Amino acid sequence: MIKESKRQLNRFSQMDDNIAAKDRVVAWPRMGRIDIPLKALLVTLGAKIVIPPANSNEVLELGVKNSIEGICLPYKLNLANYIMALENGANTLMMFQAPGSCRLGNYTKMAQKTLQKMGYEFDMVIFDMYQSKMKQTVQAFWHVTRCLNPIRYIRGFGLGFTKFFAIDAAEKHLLYYRPREIKRGSAEACYKKWLNKIDETNSLFKFCFLFGRMKKDFAKIQIDKTRKVPIVYLLGEFFVLLDPYTNQNIEKELGEMGVEVQRQIMFSDWLAHVLTPSFLNKKESHRERCVRYAEKYMKRAIGGECIETIGDTVYAAKHGIDGVIHMMPFSCMPEIVSQNILSKVSKEENIPVLSLVFDEQTGKAGYMTRIEAFIDLIKRKKFVNDKKNIIEREEMIKC
Ligand code: SF4
Repeated sequence: MIKESKRQLNRFSQMDDNIAAKDRVVAWPRMGRIDIPLKALLVTLGAKIVIPPANSNEVLELGVKNSIEGICLPYKLNLANYIMALENGANTLMMFQAPGSCRLGNYTKMAQKTLQKMGYEFDMVIFDMYQSKMKQTVQAFWHVTRCLNPIRYIRGFGLGFTKFFAIDAAEKHLLYYRPREIKRGSAEACYKKWLNKIDETNSLFKFCFLFGRMKKDFAKIQIDKTRKVPIVYLLGEFFVLLDPYTNQNIEKELGEMGVEVQRQIMFSDWLAHVLTPSFLNKKESHRERCVRYAEKYMKRAIGGECIETIGDTVYAAKHGIDGVIHMMPFSCMPEIVSQNILSKVSKEENIPVLSLVFDEQTGKAGYMTRIEAFIDLIKRKKFVNDKKNIIEREEMIKC
């Protein structure tokens, strides 16, 4: 019985236990702005934390130097984040992993062995992104912090989750206003202001008003209502989508070209549908919707975000979206499969698709030329076919 329950626990999480709770200094890899909610959660539970520097050329160089050549880009950046965190005093590394056919299932073990060979001493706490439920997630945070106060858990998880939702809301406003703004940079400035406020706000009560205030503040941005704005779905591999350094800030580039980006993977979706108990989830999740729409082209998920990529592209074609940009790290196995299926989907569903592959050699100029040509294509297609889009989008954002 005991053996069975231990095996269950290991399926969801692997947790070293060599460092006393009071001595733990916790770190996790950088990806977009997950540092803001994770900091709130861990600090509320009483943990000491180290946040490694944001991803940059210097970080990537360190990761490349210590990784095998063929491994995917997110691993290289994660490894460098760990090295920098350990150098800055961290001794407990948290990592998300997912099972399935892709290399993410082996990442953490590989990183752990590499870091041990480099002479670092630390504990690794791993939990499964797709299988873990709330219970396993709380167990992982208990393991790291040994916090016994239930009030702190309620407050910490409440605060962390709310910050994830608030960041996603701020990003959605930014993506809507940036291509329509009259004064270049006003949406970005508003977004940065609210990101700071989200980071600084540590009262759940204050968050009751923050969402409404943020929405009103964004609504003050002067926009050109007559501008024809094509809508592009951004989809593909999770890390590349969420990390602006890795995707060369593509959302900003597209927004400044007058294109509204709708990113299809948001952290809050994952929180809402993976961690929340199923009886509270009445709506179809993003993943369930993708499986339904991808059925004609793919019968089962094969790891990574492959089925989401196919399902979202079919969904985009059926819902008047002007084009799809598919992003993946070089040699990403699930997304190589999607890339091959996408050419068929694009043809049969009549939707323009551009696939972009990112690695440490990616030069901005080369991929910008491809993006500009693609945007020209969808703008031409849109302006010929679609006259009602602007009004419909404005009505939607007002709801
Ligand atoms: S999804 Fe792709 S990039 Fe991410 S770990 Fe798997 S193979 Fe690597």
